[in-house]
Order: sequence, then C-alpha cells, then structure tokens
Amino acid sequence: SDRLKGKRAFVTAAAAGIGRASVIAFAREGADVFATDIDEAGLSSLADHGVTRTARLDVRDTAAVDAMAQEIGTIDILLNAAGFVHHGTVLDCSDSDWDFSFDLNVKSMHRTIRAFLPGMLETGRGSIVNISSAAGVYKAAPNRYVYGATKAAVAALTRAVAADFITRGIRCNAICPGTIETPSMLGRAAALGPQGRDMFVSRQPMGRLGNAEEIAALAVYLASDESAFTTGVAHIIDGGWTL
Ligand code: NAD
Repeated sequence: SDRLKGKRAFVTAAAAGIGRASVIAFAREGADVFATDIDEAGLSSLADHGVTRTARLDVRDTAAVDAMAQEIGTIDILLNAAGFVHHGTVLDCSDSDWDFSFDLNVKSMHRTIRAFLPGMLETGRGSIVNISSAAGVYKAAPNRYVYGATKAAVAALTRAVAADFITRGIRCNAICPGTIETPSMLGRAAALGPQGRDMFVSRQPMGRLGNAEEIAALAVYLASDESAFTTGVAHIIDGGWTL
C-alpha cells in the first residue's frame, strides 16, 4: 500500500470492469481518487471499496469533461478506461457505428487529456494511462473492425502525447489487455450462445481469461513513480493470447 500516496487520480468508466478495479486499487494504494461513469448506481457501490469521490460524467460530452476538470483542479494521474466493443466487419459498420466508436473510444481520451494536461504541465508531473487493447494493436481479431481501428488510434495518440511532453514531466502509456472477464465481455460471450464464454477461454493458452484486478495492477504500476522510465508504450497484458 501507499504506492500512490499523495497523488490525485481521475478515472473514466470507473463503475465496472477494468476502470472499477483500477479505482479500487488506486484507493488501496493511497491515492485521492475521483471515479466517474454514466452508471451512477455502479459508482455509488464503490463507497464500500474505499472510493468515495464519484460523479456522473459522460465522456462523449466535451463541455461536461471541461467543467469537471475545472471543478477538480490539478491531478497527477489520468486513467482513460471508457470504451465500447462494436461486433462486426467493415460491412456491419455503418457511418454512425463508426462515429460512435471513435467518439467514445478515442475522442473521449482527446477530451480528457486536453482538459487535464494543462494542470499537469503547471506542476511539471503527470501520468496518463489509456486503455487500448491487444486487438487492433497486436492482433487483428475477427469481427473487431472498428474496435481495432479505435484501439490502434489510442496507441497512436498515446505515443504522440508521450513524445510531445516528455521533457515536461508528463508520461503517457497505454495498456493493451487481452480477453478480460468483465460485465461487457461476459455479455459479448453470452451473445454468441451458451458456449460463448468457453469459446473465448479456448483461445487462451493459459486456459483462462484475465481478470480486471490483473489489469488494475499494471495501471497502478504505470500510474506510480515506479514506472518513471517508461512512456509512450502500448503495454500488452493478454495471458499469451498473441504469442
Ligand atoms: P465494461 O465494458 O464492462 O464497462 C465499461 C464502463 O464504461 C461501464 O461502467 C459503462 O457505464 C461505462 N461507460 C460506457 N459509456 C460511457 C460514457 N459515455 N461515459 C462514461 N462511461 C461510460 O468494462 P471493461 O470490459 O473493463 O472495458 C473497459 C476498457 O477496457 C474499454 O476501453 C475496453 O475497450 C477495454 N478493453 C477491455 C477488454 C476486455 O476483454 N474486457 C479487453 C481489451 C480492452
């Protein structure tokens, strides 16, 4: 514990899955955590896990993101976890599907980074962690056409921010998870039928899915000063899926 003591952290999509496990881990490590999501019931259940500062925030709303950054002030850690998995090929992806995925998965990160980076530059320190994916960056998964494109864009904007602000105390890294057992992942498995989860497990060389706490452990490392010498990297954590 105390690996994040004295640091203020802001997290999107914190009510479920990887974002949720990350805010719980950040709080356990002593950070002052602001957890945001559109799911207010999910946020309120975080109080039992030591995360008490929560607020509704739709990362698709630029004005709301800007207002929240004004209200919260300077932070040390920004974790961007919001993301949506569109299922399908190019032929299944309408213009509005494309726009929705890029807005939620990519432009959301553009919004929060633009809103919070100036404060980090004033203090001369900050760690930005963006949730990308092994799919799109390390592997072309079937039926992940626009999803993969968004996650590759996340890896690219991560490198760009890292390069532009490397001399000013800012680090920016991405996490590229493989298949992680979260509410939405289990929903995607169920949509494939009763064998859906087994199908996802069968492509795992370790014989199991990952869990959100394993991703949160990497998020803690990247958020903390322990990782001071790494920036601009798409850190893969996939149980050997892409081996
Ligand atoms: P999840 O998909 O189960 O939950 C996502 C959370 O995002 C929910 O709490 C939801 O309310 C919130 N959300 C949705 N739209 C929002 C919006 N407009 N504004 C704010 N919050 C919003 O969680 P997950 O599966 O852990 O996914 C989190 C991230 O991890 C995503 O970016 C996802 O692409 C990425 N990822 C997940 C996996 C996996 O296998 N689960 C693998 C690789 C990458």
